[in-house]
Amino acid sequence: MAKMAMERVLDKARQVAIVGGGPAGLMAAEMLSAAGHAVTVFEAMPTVARKLLMAGKSGLNITHAEDYGNFLHRFGDAEPKLRAALDGFTPGMLRDWAHGLGQETFVGTSGRVFPTVMKASPLLRAWLARLEAQGVTIRTRHRWMGFSGGRLVFVAPEGEVAVEADAVLLALGGASWPRLGSDAAWVPALAAEGVVLNPFKPANCGFDVDWSDVFRQRFAGKALKSVIAISPDGAFQGEFVITKHGIEGSIVYAHSAALRDRLDETGKASLAIDLAPGRAVERLSRDLAKLGRKESLANRMRKAAGLSAVKVGLLREIFPDISTMPDDFVAARIKHAEIPLLRPRPIAEAISSAGGVDWHGLDGNYMLEKLPGIFAAGEMLDWEAPTGGYLLTACFATGKAAAKGMAKWLEGLA
Ligand SMILES: Cc1cc2nc3c(=O)[nH]c(=O)nc-3n(C[C@H](O)[C@H](O)[C@H](O)COP(=O)(O)OP(=O)(O)OC[C@H]3O[C@@H](n4cnc5c(N)ncnc54)[C@H](O)[C@@H]3O)c2cc1C
Repeated sequence: MAKMAMERVLDKARQVAIVGGGPAGLMAAEMLSAAGHAVTVFEAMPTVARKLLMAGKSGLNITHAEDYGNFLHRFGDAEPKLRAALDGFTPGMLRDWAHGLGQETFVGTSGRVFPTVMKASPLLRAWLARLEAQGVTIRTRHRWMGFSGGRLVFVAPEGEVAVEADAVLLALGGASWPRLGSDAAWVPALAAEGVVLNPFKPANCGFDVDWSDVFRQRFAGKALKSVIAISPDGAFQGEFVITKHGIEGSIVYAHSAALRDRLDETGKASLAIDLAPGRAVERLSRDLAKLGRKESLANRMRKAAGLSAVKVGLLREIFPDISTMPDDFVAARIKHAEIPLLRPRPIAEAISSAGGVDWHGLDGNYMLEKLPGIFAAGEMLDWEAPTGGYLLTACFATGKAAAKGMAKWLEGLA
Protein backbone atom coordinates (compact mmCIF):
# COMPACT_ATOMS: atom_id res chain seq x y z
CA MET A 1 0.00 0.00 0.00
CA ALA A 2 2.77 2.37 1.02
CA LYS A 3 4.73 1.41 -2.13
CA MET A 4 1.81 2.20 -4.42
CA ALA A 5 1.27 5.59 -2.84
CA MET A 6 4.94 6.38 -3.31
CA GLU A 7 4.86 5.35 -6.97
CA ARG A 8 1.87 7.55 -7.59
CA VAL A 9 3.68 10.51 -6.06
CA LEU A 10 6.76 9.83 -8.14
CA ASP A 11 4.63 9.47 -11.27
CA LYS A 12 3.44 12.99 -10.78
CA ALA A 13 6.84 14.36 -9.75
CA ARG A 14 7.97 17.32 -11.79
CA GLN A 15 11.22 19.23 -12.08
CA VAL A 16 10.85 22.46 -10.17
CA ALA A 17 13.44 25.25 -10.15
CA ILE A 18 13.37 27.81 -7.36
CA VAL A 19 15.58 30.83 -7.92
CA GLY A 20 16.54 32.62 -4.71
CA GLY A 21 17.27 30.86 -1.42
CA GLY A 22 15.71 33.31 1.03
CA PRO A 23 12.71 32.68 3.31
CA ALA A 24 10.20 32.76 0.42
CA GLY A 25 12.17 30.40 -1.84
CA LEU A 26 13.05 27.94 0.92
CA MET A 27 9.45 27.80 2.14
CA ALA A 28 8.28 26.98 -1.39
CA ALA A 29 11.04 24.33 -1.63
CA GLU A 30 9.75 22.73 1.57
CA MET A 31 6.16 22.63 0.32
CA LEU A 32 6.91 21.40 -3.20
CA SER A 33 9.38 18.71 -2.11
CA ALA A 34 6.85 17.51 0.49
CA ALA A 35 4.35 17.21 -2.39
CA GLY A 36 6.78 14.87 -4.15
CA HIS A 37 8.33 17.21 -6.73
CA ALA A 38 12.02 17.24 -7.60
CA VAL A 39 13.11 20.64 -6.33
CA THR A 40 16.37 22.47 -7.04
CA VAL A 41 17.06 25.84 -5.40
CA PHE A 42 19.46 28.10 -7.31
CA GLU A 43 21.13 30.80 -5.26
CA ALA A 44 23.55 33.49 -6.47
CA MET A 45 25.49 33.79 -3.23
CA PRO A 46 27.89 31.19 -1.77
CA THR A 47 25.29 30.38 0.94
CA VAL A 48 21.50 30.75 1.21
CA ALA A 49 19.34 32.99 3.43
CA ARG A 50 21.90 35.67 4.27
CA LYS A 51 19.24 38.27 4.95
CA LEU A 52 17.40 35.91 7.30
CA LEU A 53 20.66 35.41 9.19
CA MET A 54 21.19 39.17 9.31
CA ALA A 55 17.65 39.59 10.69
CA GLY A 56 18.74 37.13 13.37
CA LYS A 57 21.39 39.56 14.59
CA SER A 58 18.64 41.66 16.14
CA GLY A 59 16.85 38.62 17.58
CA LEU A 60 14.87 37.46 14.50
CA ASN A 61 11.49 39.05 14.94
CA ILE A 62 9.72 36.28 13.09
CA THR A 63 6.09 37.38 13.37
CA HIS A 64 3.69 39.38 15.56
CA ALA A 65 1.13 38.19 18.11
CA GLU A 66 -1.34 41.10 17.90
CA ASP A 67 -5.01 40.61 17.01
CA TYR A 68 -5.10 39.08 13.50
CA GLY A 69 -7.32 41.86 12.10
CA ASN A 70 -4.78 44.49 13.20
CA PHE A 71 -1.96 42.29 11.91
CA LEU A 72 -3.54 42.27 8.44
CA HIS A 73 -4.00 46.08 8.45
CA ARG A 74 -0.22 46.53 8.73
CA PHE A 75 0.05 45.59 5.06
CA GLY A 76 -1.89 48.72 4.05
CA ASP A 77 -2.98 48.75 0.40
CA ALA A 78 -1.54 45.27 -0.14
CA GLU A 79 -3.76 43.65 2.53
CA PRO A 80 -6.42 42.42 0.07
CA LYS A 81 -3.72 40.99 -2.22
CA LEU A 82 -1.85 39.22 0.58
CA ARG A 83 -4.89 38.13 2.58
CA ALA A 84 -5.29 34.61 1.13
CA ALA A 85 -1.56 33.87 1.54
CA LEU A 86 -1.55 35.15 5.13
CA ASP A 87 -4.69 33.15 5.96
CA GLY A 88 -2.82 30.11 4.67
CA PHE A 89 0.18 30.79 6.93
CA THR A 90 -0.97 32.83 9.91
CA PRO A 91 1.35 34.02 12.70
CA GLY A 92 0.12 31.04 14.78
CA MET A 93 0.97 28.58 12.00
CA LEU A 94 4.36 30.22 11.57
CA ARG A 95 5.12 29.72 15.25
CA ASP A 96 4.01 26.07 15.03
CA TRP A 97 6.27 25.63 12.01
CA ALA A 98 9.23 27.08 13.95
CA HIS A 99 8.40 24.81 16.91
CA GLY A 100 8.39 21.87 14.46
CA LEU A 101 11.99 22.81 13.64
CA GLY A 102 12.86 22.66 17.33
CA GLN A 103 12.74 26.44 17.79
CA GLU A 104 10.56 27.58 20.67
CA THR A 105 9.28 31.13 20.35
CA PHE A 106 8.16 33.80 22.82
CA VAL A 107 6.10 36.97 22.62
CA GLY A 108 8.03 40.10 23.61
CA THR A 109 6.44 43.00 25.49
CA SER A 110 5.47 44.76 22.26
CA GLY A 111 3.76 41.64 20.86
CA ARG A 112 6.72 40.87 18.59
CA VAL A 113 7.52 37.15 18.36
CA PHE A 114 11.11 35.85 18.52
CA PRO A 115 12.75 32.43 18.74
CA THR A 116 13.78 31.86 22.36
CA VAL A 117 17.44 31.70 21.28
CA MET A 118 17.09 35.16 19.66
CA LYS A 119 18.94 34.21 16.51
CA ALA A 120 18.30 32.67 13.10
CA SER A 121 21.13 30.16 12.69
CA PRO A 122 19.64 27.20 14.65
CA LEU A 123 16.33 27.59 12.81
CA LEU A 124 18.07 27.80 9.43
CA ARG A 125 20.24 24.77 10.22
CA ALA A 126 17.22 22.65 11.15
CA TRP A 127 15.32 23.92 8.12
CA LEU A 128 18.11 23.07 5.68
CA ALA A 129 18.40 19.60 7.24
CA ARG A 130 14.67 19.09 6.67
CA LEU A 131 14.99 20.24 3.05
CA GLU A 132 17.90 17.89 2.47
CA ALA A 133 15.92 15.00 3.98
CA GLN A 134 13.08 15.84 1.59
CA GLY A 135 15.46 15.61 -1.36
CA VAL A 136 15.85 19.32 -2.15
CA THR A 137 19.04 20.12 -4.06
CA ILE A 138 20.65 23.49 -3.42
CA ARG A 139 22.98 24.98 -6.04
CA THR A 140 24.78 28.01 -4.69
CA ARG A 141 26.88 30.45 -6.76
CA HIS A 142 24.28 30.19 -9.51
CA ARG A 143 23.24 33.68 -10.58
CA TRP A 144 20.12 33.78 -12.72
CA MET A 145 20.61 36.04 -15.74
CA GLY A 146 17.34 35.60 -17.65
CA PHE A 147 15.64 33.25 -20.11
CA SER A 148 16.84 31.77 -23.36
CA GLY A 149 14.64 29.53 -25.49
CA GLY A 150 12.36 28.72 -22.55
CA ARG A 151 15.32 27.82 -20.29
CA LEU A 152 16.74 29.56 -17.28
CA VAL A 153 20.25 30.87 -17.81
CA PHE A 154 22.67 30.99 -14.88
CA VAL A 155 26.23 32.12 -14.47
CA ALA A 156 27.91 29.48 -12.30
CA PRO A 157 31.52 28.69 -11.38
CA GLU A 158 31.72 26.30 -14.36
CA GLY A 159 30.43 28.99 -16.74
CA GLU A 160 27.00 29.58 -18.27
CA VAL A 161 24.41 26.91 -17.39
CA ALA A 162 20.98 26.49 -19.03
CA VAL A 163 18.30 24.78 -16.95
CA GLU A 164 14.99 23.38 -18.07
CA ALA A 165 12.20 22.95 -15.53
CA ASP A 166 8.49 22.14 -15.58
CA ALA A 167 7.83 25.17 -13.38
CA VAL A 168 9.92 27.94 -11.86
CA LEU A 169 9.52 30.07 -8.76
CA LEU A 170 11.38 33.37 -8.67
CA ALA A 171 11.99 34.42 -5.06
CA LEU A 172 14.74 36.96 -5.64
CA GLY A 173 14.03 39.38 -2.79
CA GLY A 174 13.75 43.17 -2.89
CA ALA A 175 16.42 45.82 -3.34
CA SER A 176 17.65 46.63 0.15
CA TRP A 177 20.99 45.48 1.59
CA PRO A 178 22.23 44.26 -1.83
CA ARG A 179 25.43 42.88 -0.31
CA LEU A 180 23.31 40.09 1.20
CA GLY A 181 22.27 39.00 -2.31
CA SER A 182 18.98 40.71 -3.15
CA ASP A 183 20.33 43.33 -5.54
CA ALA A 184 17.36 43.57 -7.95
CA ALA A 185 19.75 42.96 -10.87
CA TRP A 186 17.00 40.70 -12.27
CA VAL A 187 14.72 43.66 -13.08
CA PRO A 188 15.77 44.05 -16.76
CA ALA A 189 15.34 40.30 -17.40
CA LEU A 190 11.71 40.36 -16.24
CA ALA A 191 10.98 43.75 -17.82
CA ALA A 192 12.20 42.32 -21.16
CA GLU A 193 9.49 39.65 -20.87
CA GLY A 194 6.80 42.31 -20.43
CA VAL A 195 6.35 41.80 -16.67
CA VAL A 196 5.14 45.07 -15.14
CA LEU A 197 7.49 46.24 -12.40
CA ASN A 198 7.14 49.24 -10.12
CA PRO A 199 10.29 51.14 -9.15
CA PHE A 200 11.90 49.97 -5.92
CA LYS A 201 11.82 52.47 -3.05
CA PRO A 202 13.33 52.33 0.42
CA ALA A 203 10.98 51.10 3.17
CA ASN A 204 11.66 51.02 6.90
CA CYS A 205 14.43 53.52 6.30
CA GLY A 206 16.12 56.49 7.92
CA PHE A 207 16.15 60.04 6.54
CA ASP A 208 18.74 62.68 5.76
CA VAL A 209 18.52 65.87 7.82
CA ASP A 210 20.56 69.02 7.24
CA TRP A 211 22.16 69.06 10.71
CA SER A 212 24.54 71.86 11.62
CA ASP A 213 28.17 70.74 12.00
CA VAL A 214 28.08 71.53 15.71
CA PHE A 215 24.99 69.40 16.34
CA ARG A 216 26.26 66.54 14.17
CA GLN A 217 29.64 66.43 15.88
CA ARG A 218 28.21 66.54 19.36
CA PHE A 219 25.20 64.24 19.04
CA ALA A 220 25.68 61.75 16.15
CA GLY A 221 25.18 58.28 17.64
CA LYS A 222 23.04 59.51 20.55
CA ALA A 223 19.59 58.02 21.14
CA LEU A 224 16.47 60.00 22.07
CA LYS A 225 14.57 57.63 24.35
CA SER A 226 10.89 57.67 25.32
CA VAL A 227 9.58 60.09 22.73
CA ILE A 228 6.49 60.09 20.56
CA ALA A 229 6.89 60.61 16.81
CA ILE A 230 3.91 61.89 14.85
CA SER A 231 3.31 61.86 11.07
CA PRO A 232 0.31 61.35 8.76
CA ASP A 233 0.73 57.63 9.63
CA GLY A 234 -0.12 58.12 13.31
CA ALA A 235 1.76 58.50 16.60
CA PHE A 236 4.29 55.94 17.82
CA GLN A 237 6.18 55.92 21.11
CA GLY A 238 9.74 54.66 21.23
CA GLU A 239 13.21 55.90 20.46
CA PHE A 240 15.35 57.04 17.58
CA VAL A 241 18.99 57.86 16.96
CA ILE A 242 20.73 60.95 15.62
CA THR A 243 23.21 59.95 12.90
CA LYS A 244 25.74 61.98 11.00
CA HIS A 245 23.32 61.98 8.06
CA GLY A 246 20.02 62.41 9.87
CA ILE A 247 17.76 60.09 11.84
CA GLU A 248 17.33 56.31 12.14
CA GLY A 249 15.50 53.92 14.44
CA SER A 250 12.31 52.02 15.05
CA ILE A 251 9.93 54.96 15.35
CA VAL A 252 11.44 56.58 12.26
CA TYR A 253 10.91 53.33 10.33
CA ALA A 254 7.31 53.17 11.53
CA HIS A 255 6.66 56.52 9.82
CA SER A 256 8.96 56.03 6.87
CA ALA A 257 6.42 54.99 4.23
CA ALA A 258 4.21 58.04 4.88
CA LEU A 259 7.19 60.41 5.04
CA ARG A 260 8.81 58.96 1.90
CA ASP A 261 5.54 59.30 -0.04
CA ARG A 262 5.04 62.87 1.19
CA LEU A 263 8.58 63.79 0.11
CA ASP A 264 7.91 62.18 -3.29
CA GLU A 265 4.65 64.06 -3.76
CA THR A 266 5.42 67.48 -2.31
CA GLY A 267 9.19 67.62 -1.87
CA LYS A 268 8.66 68.41 1.82
CA ALA A 269 8.11 66.36 4.96
CA SER A 270 8.91 66.59 8.63
CA LEU A 271 8.66 64.27 11.58
CA ALA A 272 7.04 65.87 14.64
CA ILE A 273 8.43 64.76 18.00
CA ASP A 274 6.96 65.03 21.49
CA LEU A 275 10.07 65.03 23.67
CA ALA A 276 8.19 64.71 26.96
CA PRO A 277 5.27 62.28 26.56
CA GLY A 278 2.95 62.16 29.56
CA ARG A 279 3.51 65.81 30.55
CA ALA A 280 1.05 68.47 29.44
CA VAL A 281 2.23 71.84 28.05
CA GLU A 282 0.71 73.68 31.05
CA ARG A 283 2.58 71.54 33.55
CA LEU A 284 5.85 71.84 31.68
CA SER A 285 5.40 75.60 31.45
CA ARG A 286 4.68 75.83 35.21
CA ASP A 287 7.67 73.63 36.10
CA LEU A 288 10.00 75.64 33.87
CA ALA A 289 8.79 78.89 35.45
CA LYS A 290 9.36 77.55 38.98
CA LEU A 291 13.08 77.18 38.32
CA GLY A 292 13.56 80.85 37.47
CA ARG A 293 15.60 82.39 34.69
CA LYS A 294 18.89 82.33 36.59
CA GLU A 295 19.39 78.67 35.75
CA SER A 296 20.54 77.84 32.21
CA LEU A 297 17.84 76.68 29.78
CA ALA A 298 19.50 73.26 29.55
CA ASN A 299 19.32 72.87 33.35
CA ARG A 300 15.74 74.06 33.48
CA MET A 301 14.72 71.65 30.73
CA ARG A 302 16.55 68.80 32.44
CA LYS A 303 15.03 69.49 35.86
CA ALA A 304 11.52 70.49 34.76
CA ALA A 305 11.03 68.10 31.86
CA GLY A 306 13.67 65.40 32.40
CA LEU A 307 15.21 66.21 29.01
CA SER A 308 18.58 64.63 28.21
CA ALA A 309 21.40 66.65 26.63
CA VAL A 310 20.57 65.32 23.16
CA LYS A 311 16.90 66.32 23.50
CA VAL A 312 17.91 69.82 24.56
CA GLY A 313 20.43 69.88 21.71
CA LEU A 314 17.71 68.91 19.23
CA LEU A 315 15.44 71.72 20.46
CA ARG A 316 18.29 74.22 20.08
CA GLU A 317 19.03 72.88 16.59
CA ILE A 318 15.42 73.25 15.45
CA PHE A 319 14.65 76.47 17.37
CA PRO A 320 17.95 78.43 17.52
CA ASP A 321 16.26 81.24 19.52
CA ILE A 322 14.61 78.95 22.08
CA SER A 323 16.55 80.40 25.02
CA THR A 324 14.87 83.79 24.43
CA MET A 325 11.35 82.33 24.34
CA PRO A 326 8.83 82.63 27.17
CA ASP A 327 8.28 79.43 29.19
CA ASP A 328 4.92 78.57 27.61
CA PHE A 329 6.51 78.75 24.12
CA VAL A 330 9.39 76.54 25.26
CA ALA A 331 6.91 74.05 26.73
CA ALA A 332 4.93 73.97 23.48
CA ARG A 333 8.10 73.27 21.51
CA ILE A 334 9.13 70.45 23.85
CA LYS A 335 5.77 68.86 23.01
CA HIS A 336 6.02 69.49 19.28
CA ALA A 337 9.38 69.83 17.56
CA GLU A 338 9.37 69.18 13.82
CA ILE A 339 12.50 67.73 12.23
CA PRO A 340 12.59 68.77 8.56
CA LEU A 341 13.62 65.84 6.36
CA LEU A 342 15.58 66.12 3.13
CA ARG A 343 15.21 62.63 1.63
CA PRO A 344 15.08 58.94 2.60
CA ARG A 345 18.45 57.28 3.11
CA PRO A 346 19.58 55.17 0.11
CA ILE A 347 17.69 51.91 -0.50
CA ALA A 348 20.88 49.91 0.13
CA GLU A 349 20.60 50.89 3.82
CA ALA A 350 16.84 50.33 4.20
CA ILE A 351 15.52 47.31 6.12
CA SER A 352 13.19 46.48 3.23
CA SER A 353 11.90 47.83 -0.06
CA ALA A 354 8.59 48.75 -1.63
CA GLY A 355 8.05 48.25 -5.36
CA GLY A 356 8.80 45.24 -7.56
CA VAL A 357 6.48 42.93 -9.48
CA ASP A 358 3.09 44.60 -9.89
CA TRP A 359 0.14 42.58 -8.60
CA HIS A 360 -1.74 43.10 -11.86
CA GLY A 361 0.74 40.84 -13.60
CA LEU A 362 0.18 37.93 -11.15
CA ASP A 363 -2.74 35.54 -11.15
CA GLY A 364 -4.40 34.19 -7.99
CA ASN A 365 -1.80 31.38 -7.89
CA TYR A 366 1.20 33.76 -7.88
CA MET A 367 1.95 32.90 -11.51
CA LEU A 368 3.24 35.66 -13.80
CA GLU A 369 0.55 36.15 -16.42
CA LYS A 370 3.14 36.98 -19.09
CA LEU A 371 5.15 33.85 -18.32
CA PRO A 372 3.02 30.71 -17.82
CA GLY A 373 4.72 28.27 -15.45
CA ILE A 374 6.84 31.00 -13.83
CA PHE A 375 5.74 32.07 -10.34
CA ALA A 376 6.99 34.82 -7.99
CA ALA A 377 6.93 35.30 -4.20
CA GLY A 378 8.44 37.23 -1.31
CA GLU A 379 9.80 40.74 -1.15
CA MET A 380 10.25 40.98 -4.92
CA LEU A 381 6.46 41.54 -5.13
CA ASP A 382 5.14 45.08 -4.67
CA TRP A 383 4.02 45.27 -1.04
CA GLU A 384 5.48 46.79 2.08
CA ALA A 385 4.93 46.55 5.82
CA PRO A 386 6.52 47.99 8.94
CA THR A 387 9.10 46.14 11.02
CA GLY A 388 7.60 43.85 13.66
CA GLY A 389 7.78 40.44 11.99
CA TYR A 390 5.34 41.36 9.21
CA LEU A 391 7.99 41.19 6.48
CA LEU A 392 9.16 37.67 7.23
CA THR A 393 5.60 36.42 7.79
CA ALA A 394 4.52 37.66 4.36
CA CYS A 395 7.65 36.23 2.69
CA PHE A 396 7.05 32.79 4.20
CA ALA A 397 3.31 33.04 3.45
CA THR A 398 3.70 34.06 -0.20
CA GLY A 399 6.36 31.36 -0.66
CA LYS A 400 3.86 28.80 0.60
CA ALA A 401 0.98 30.24 -1.46
CA ALA A 402 3.08 30.28 -4.64
CA ALA A 403 4.11 26.66 -3.99
CA LYS A 404 0.46 25.70 -3.63
CA GLY A 405 -0.41 27.59 -6.80
CA MET A 406 2.44 25.90 -8.66
CA ALA A 407 1.45 22.44 -7.44
CA LYS A 408 -2.08 23.07 -8.71
CA TRP A 409 -0.77 24.28 -12.06
CA LEU A 410 1.55 21.27 -12.38
CA GLU A 411 -1.39 18.94 -11.78
CA GLY A 412 -3.05 20.44 -14.84
CA LEU A 413 -0.06 19.60 -17.08
CA ALA A 414 -0.60 16.62 -19.34
C1 LIG B 1 19.14 44.15 8.63
C2 LIG B 1 17.79 43.52 8.37
C3 LIG B 1 17.04 43.06 9.45
C4 LIG B 1 15.77 42.50 9.22
N1 LIG B 1 15.06 42.05 10.29
C5 LIG B 1 13.82 41.55 10.10
C6 LIG B 1 13.05 41.06 11.19
O1 LIG B 1 13.52 41.02 12.33
N2 LIG B 1 11.78 40.62 10.94
C7 LIG B 1 11.26 40.62 9.68
O2 LIG B 1 10.09 40.24 9.53
N3 LIG B 1 11.99 41.01 8.61
C8 LIG B 1 13.24 41.48 8.79
N4 LIG B 1 13.98 41.88 7.70
C9 LIG B 1 13.41 41.72 6.34
C10 LIG B 1 13.47 40.27 5.86
O3 LIG B 1 14.73 39.71 6.16
C11 LIG B 1 13.19 40.22 4.35
O4 LIG B 1 11.94 40.82 4.09
C12 LIG B 1 13.18 38.77 3.82
O5 LIG B 1 14.45 38.15 4.02
C13 LIG B 1 12.85 38.72 2.33
O6 LIG B 1 12.74 37.37 1.98
P1 LIG B 1 12.79 36.91 0.43
O7 LIG B 1 12.90 35.44 0.46
O8 LIG B 1 11.71 37.56 -0.32
O9 LIG B 1 14.15 37.56 -0.12
P2 LIG B 1 15.66 37.46 0.41
O10 LIG B 1 15.74 37.04 1.82
O11 LIG B 1 16.28 38.77 0.02
O12 LIG B 1 16.25 36.30 -0.48
C14 LIG B 1 16.38 36.42 -1.87
C15 LIG B 1 17.50 35.51 -2.32
O13 LIG B 1 17.58 35.56 -3.75
C16 LIG B 1 18.94 35.57 -4.12
N5 LIG B 1 19.06 36.17 -5.45
C17 LIG B 1 18.82 37.46 -5.82
N6 LIG B 1 19.05 37.63 -7.13
C18 LIG B 1 19.42 36.40 -7.61
C19 LIG B 1 19.77 35.93 -8.92
N7 LIG B 1 19.78 36.75 -9.98
N8 LIG B 1 20.08 34.63 -9.06
C20 LIG B 1 20.05 33.77 -8.00
N9 LIG B 1 19.74 34.17 -6.75
C21 LIG B 1 19.43 35.48 -6.55
C22 LIG B 1 19.60 36.39 -3.05
O14 LIG B 1 20.99 36.16 -2.97
C23 LIG B 1 18.86 35.95 -1.80
O15 LIG B 1 19.49 34.86 -1.15
C24 LIG B 1 15.25 42.42 7.90
C25 LIG B 1 16.03 42.88 6.82
C26 LIG B 1 17.28 43.41 7.05
C27 LIG B 1 18.10 43.90 5.87
